[in-house]
Amino acid sequence: MPEPAVFSASYAEARGKFVDAARAHGARVFEYRDPRQKGPDGEALCLDVAVAGPEDAERMLVVGCGTHGIEGYSGSAAQTAWLVGGGPARLPKRTAMVLLHAHNPWGFAHKARGTEENVDLNRNFLDHTQPYPDNPGYAEVHPIVTPETWDDATQAEVFRQLDQLRERIGEQAFSTAFNGGQFSHEDGLYFGGRREQWANYAFREAVVKHVAHAKHAAIIDLHTGIGPWLEHIYLCFHAQGSAARKRAHDWWGERAVNQAGVTHKALASYQGLLVDAFAAMLPKAEVTAVVVEFGTLPRKEIQRANMAGRWLRYHGARHPVLAQKVHAQFCETFYPGEPAWRAAVLEQSAQILERGLQGIAG
Ligand SMILES: [Zn+2]
Repeated sequence: MPEPAVFSASYAEARGKFVDAARAHGARVFEYRDPRQKGPDGEALCLDVAVAGPEDAERMLVVGCGTHGIEGYSGSAAQTAWLVGGGPARLPKRTAMVLLHAHNPWGFAHKARGTEENVDLNRNFLDHTQPYPDNPGYAEVHPIVTPETWDDATQAEVFRQLDQLRERIGEQAFSTAFNGGQFSHEDGLYFGGRREQWANYAFREAVVKHVAHAKHAAIIDLHTGIGPWLEHIYLCFHAQGSAARKRAHDWWGERAVNQAGVTHKALASYQGLLVDAFAAMLPKAEVTAVVVEFGTLPRKEIQRANMAGRWLRYHGARHPVLAQKVHAQFCETFYPGEPAWRAAVLEQSAQILERGLQGIAG
């Protein structure tokens, strides 16, 4: 497969390429199928898992994509490129690669960020039997970011009010209020859900089945959006001074832990992250986890796109012509068509995966 051919226009196409490449290159494929629903074209929605190398390996690198649906197209291309590039044959000894294709297949297939319940999967990994964490700041954000119309004047007014709020409460409080995650407004942004999502369940099933025996486990969760164009950034949530944070630094360099390239002036305090769940599920393993974001547009445009995505979900059906245009812009924000951007994703992801493998192999 020539490199650009690893990029797909639909979930079914991406899934097909991934599964075919895995089988053709000696990886074993496992399927976790959503029993309740299908995609927009009637396609099955699955978390597909490809395991390359010994299934009982004590050292495992997990690479996942599509936690935020639409962002999975690039991660899928990176995974398929690793397979068709002969990655399985070059694995370090006694080390396995576990590729998780489409953490949130509903969002991937619908080219949306959230799940079928408007849930941000990356805020859903917490204990749903306990009271949810409070994000009181979001109550002020919600009426601003949920307009019923989505024209230029509305957007200008939304940003005027957000700027005012940010000035009043400060960068850190604004970031946490805006995108730290919230459990109070189910039709809002960064909603963490009121129950475990099927995608959350499927991810944990897959980790238990394929990774739980590992003594050394790492995960790279591939995203797109925040970060400079043609560049990638790392988000590392391991505590300052921890051995895990030091490993991330050793494997991927200083930028894995110093937030190089992060365009947010202050990162939110996040709740319910997938990578945190991964670490919590493997208490006996030495776990190293990073999120990688392939940058597309500045933060303001990412905010605009996420508000647009929310508008599409709740109001788009009443404005089909506008909705089509807004959705095309939304897709371009998280999955740019520009060949130089796609080439950068492949080049950089190949290095990131290779360094992860060398790191986990010791
Ligand atoms: Zn994301």
